[in-house]
Amino acid sequence: MKKISKAKIDELFKAISAKETLYIPVDDSEGQAAFIPYAEGLKMSEDLNTVRSAKDLFFPQVESLVNFKMDGKHIEIIDAATEKKPFVIFGVRACDARSFDILDRVFYYAEPKDSFYIERRDKSTVVTLACNAPEETCFCGAFGIDPAEPAGDVSAWQDGESFFFKANTEKGEALLAGLPLEDAADDAADKVKEDIRKITAMLPLKDLDLSKFGPGKTQELFNDPAWATLSESCLGCGTCTFVCPTCQCFDIRDFDGGKEIRRYRCWDSCMYSDFTQMSAGQPRPTQKERFRQRFMHKLVYYPDMHEGLFSCVGCGRCLRKCPIHMNIVKVIKTIGEEK
Ligand code: SF4
Ligand code: SF4
Repeated sequence: MKKISKAKIDELFKAISAKETLYIPVDDSEGQAAFIPYAEGLKMSEDLNTVRSAKDLFFPQVESLVNFKMDGKHIEIIDAATEKKPFVIFGVRACDARSFDILDRVFYYAEPKDSFYIERRDKSTVVTLACNAPEETCFCGAFGIDPAEPAGDVSAWQDGESFFFKANTEKGEALLAGLPLEDAADDAADKVKEDIRKITAMLPLKDLDLSKFGPGKTQELFNDPAWATLSESCLGCGTCTFVCPTCQCFDIRDFDGGKEIRRYRCWDSCMYSDFTQMSAGQPRPTQKERFRQRFMHKLVYYPDMHEGLFSCVGCGRCLRKCPIHMNIVKVIKTIGEEK
């Protein structure tokens, strides 16, 4: 294990950013944290609970795919892909690190492979940071995630004095090898881990029961009458999907600038009334159907296709951001308790 005193964290950030772009969570003027490129003078947020997750760095909200130049009947196809440079993300929570595994199964491993996503994943080094202050809305433990033992290329912990680092991959080892760090004992972070586990054992959602969900539950849950009541007040605003680290829907559109056409993709939401609308109409014409799709996908369909892995990591973002206080925990409790 390696360590650095907290007083020297800027030295560490400068050393990383001298070689690669470094993203850290930084508070905006309203105290809301987001991952932005490090620059001298920026302070890392105390709050790892960023409004949007680090997913944005692999799967941006808007991205050009290809451009076309039109000249009469001649069409020139221009590759819009730009060469991605290696980058480091520092301060990813354990739940968000798990979300990368969920996205990888869709964009990295499944056909057709997503070359844009794959290049960013390959060129990133993820430094996770154990959660010293999980929130009451957190329930990563329900999905078997230990916030005291985050995954990633490098796992990190902090106590009052120091940051501690452990490399888990070759990329992680290469990153740590070039940094101004001191050696630390292998058990240097054990006390921090113990304290985190004591806090998470007291979280109100720690016993969330997922046993009614998972592979093979479609028949049992699809026609549950609770979907109608749960979805009644949903505004279809899509906020829950945009803050979710595991949501992965996108649309592909053309921007017609006359002689040049830009084909881009942008995030979409299964909560929207025009999502997947085709000439024959909307396959899910009511908000109940759209609402059910979102939660069935996370809790049944995705696990069905991925050896039981749920497509939720318990980050709590949808609990904090939904304007009508609807969220996946209410769905799990309502549908789960009925069964
Ligand atoms: S469904 Fe909600 S709690 Fe689960 S990963 Fe998405 S935003 Fe987080
Ligand atoms: S559940 Fe909440 S955040 Fe999601 S679409 Fe409905 S109203 Fe918006």
